Amino acid sequence: MTSHKLADYLLATWHSSTRPSSLELDDSATVWKRLEVLESGEKDERGWVHFRATFLEGRRWSVLEESSRFVREAGRWFYLDGNSAVHRLKPGRNAPCPCGSGRKFKACCGLA
Ligand SMILES: [Zn+2]
Repeated sequence: MTSHKLADYLLATWHSSTRPSSLELDDSATVWKRLEVLESGEKDERGWVHFRATFLEGRRWSVLEESSRFVREAGRWFYLDGNSAVHRLKPGRNAPCPCGSGRKFKACCGLA
């Protein structure tokens, strides 16, 4: 998912009580590489998702980890808010590629 599409998606699903009028996910060079849902659940009209999204900016790998909260209204889920943290990755040449391919980094995205 490109950052532009991600911004559109977030705004389309963001709950009106907390939604900003526009959302700039700066840096058009961001490439989303992998999305892992670590945990998710729902109870009554509340839902939550704990996910990890791996992205690449130039040659810099980072991971956005977030616990998001959602609320359901008229059968549709809306994003409410989330606690997120971003940290850098420094994949080793022989480490598993952060894109999730299962191959070594040097034989996958780490190819020069
Ligand atoms: Zn890869």
